[in-house]
Amino acid sequence: MSMRELVVLGTASQAPTRQRNHNGYVLRWDDEVILFDPGEGSQRQLLHTTVTATDLTRICVTHFHGDHCLGLPGTIQRLSLDRVAHPVAVHFPAGGAEYFARLRYATSFYETAELRVEPIEADGQRIALRCGTLEARRLRHPIETYGYRLVEPDGHRMLPEKLAAYGITGPAVGELIRVGHLDLDGRRVARDEVSVPRPGQRFAFVMDTGLCDGVYALAEHADLLVIESTFLESEAALAAEVGHLTAAQAARVATESGVRRLVLTHFSQRYPDPRRFHDEARAHFDGELIIAEDLTTVQLPPRRVASAG
Ligand SMILES: [Zn+2]
Repeated sequence: MSMRELVVLGTASQAPTRQRNHNGYVLRWDDEVILFDPGEGSQRQLLHTTVTATDLTRICVTHFHGDHCLGLPGTIQRLSLDRVAHPVAVHFPAGGAEYFARLRYATSFYETAELRVEPIEADGQRIALRCGTLEARRLRHPIETYGYRLVEPDGHRMLPEKLAAYGITGPAVGELIRVGHLDLDGRRVARDEVSVPRPGQRFAFVMDTGLCDGVYALAEHADLLVIESTFLESEAALAAEVGHLTAAQAARVATESGVRRLVLTHFSQRYPDPRRFHDEARAHFDGELIIAEDLTTVQLPPRRVASAG
């Protein structure tokens, strides 16, 4: 069984609180372990989880405000300290390359780890991974910002009893999946005769932003959407002014986009009671709703059932 889950390192916007570390998230998705937006203290938060710096395969930064990247120096140096042997890819808005360069070499250290630096140059840029496609979409914030989504292609779930009925075993199964049919003793067996569609899973990561097309493009049919809700509706005007979302807006995006499991995070420290985010979002979204807490884990929901036909 492959593991697909979100590990929450921190959930505070702007400044940490006694209960909430600066932002930070890890997505485990099969052979990818992706660190998103490591805020200050992310290296230490990792110690409280089952993820180690050595596990990381990729780092994605949405933008260069401190609560989304001040954890980069410590995390990057840790990769070298731990002699991580595999290359670690790093994505960030290309316009912030100067900030990245400073954070990467914030202090002197003995560099052994290999970073594959791949900045995001354009809206809609796609990065092919073994487990799917990582896509970046431009968001609306005072500085260049990209959200990310990971999309697994639709596939096929083979039905063992049907395969057995045709006597199809071993490498022939792989060939049938790849080619779409198999010729057996003068009869052609189509893939669809021995399988059912297996919908691909989708993960989306949206922050920081005001409402814009990019938000909807990322959230579309996400099985798991992690989205900022810095503010409540009482501060809607302020949110729009500074390029942030309210809990109600984030929840409406989730409903309109067919999201299954919704994780709200990146909370302003002005609201000490997290239930207010839940209550406001609940009025606009009736799917699974999670108000993120530090050092918790959220599973990808089970795969969608393929529609008949
Ligand atoms: Zn920001």
